[in-house]
Amino acid sequence: MQHNKNWAKSANGQTIELYHSEGALSSQQPILLIGGTHGDEPEGVRLAEELLNFLQAHPGQVTRPWVIIPCLNPDGYAENERVNGHGVDLNRNYPATNWSPDYEKPRYYPGPNAGSEPEIQALVSLIEQIKPSVIIHFHSIENPCIVCTGKPGLEAANLIAKASGYAVQDDIGYPTPGSLSEYAWYDLGIPVICVEEQERINLDTIWPRFEKGLLSILQ
Ligand SMILES: [Zn+2]
Repeated sequence: MQHNKNWAKSANGQTIELYHSEGALSSQQPILLIGGTHGDEPEGVRLAEELLNFLQAHPGQVTRPWVIIPCLNPDGYAENERVNGHGVDLNRNYPATNWSPDYEKPRYYPGPNAGSEPEIQALVSLIEQIKPSVIIHFHSIENPCIVCTGKPGLEAANLIAKASGYAVQDDIGYPTPGSLSEYAWYDLGIPVICVEEQERINLDTIWPRFEKGLLSILQ
């Protein structure tokens, strides 16, 4: 396992860490996993960290190449806020064709322009570099579910759904212009799975629910 402690910097200048399996950054089309896009969803950070802990404790257990960013939004995470240090919802800031400056509530502020935020600029460069086979990001919500955008991701989404007991959905139920799924699937053809854990759940219960599904995707 390789650990880059200073992969990128947040809006407030905090470091963003990245971990990857040997060689995963060079032409292996790894699985990209991301936690902490929204700083007020600690469930997603915890899930990414637990996965990393498992991989560290069981080297050789999985064979697929992977890249993990446990917390994309350290600014928001430090403040228990959805947005980054510039007040931007990172999951509305991707340079997707359908990015829009319109928003209803401050927590969905998409930024002054598409791809304005340093966290998103770093992630977009990474995606262009490694061309992941699938992107899985970890969130939390009132009604938990697994959202799969792009048919090629369905097999993996079903594995997570089966193991967790949450149902697979085609979308989250409302428009998300400038989101990761819009950018990666509709513009780049990379399927995106959004794991929406139950919000405000006991963090210790999360890993057992997703362990089997995530490991079967990586094996
Ligand atoms: Zn979220």
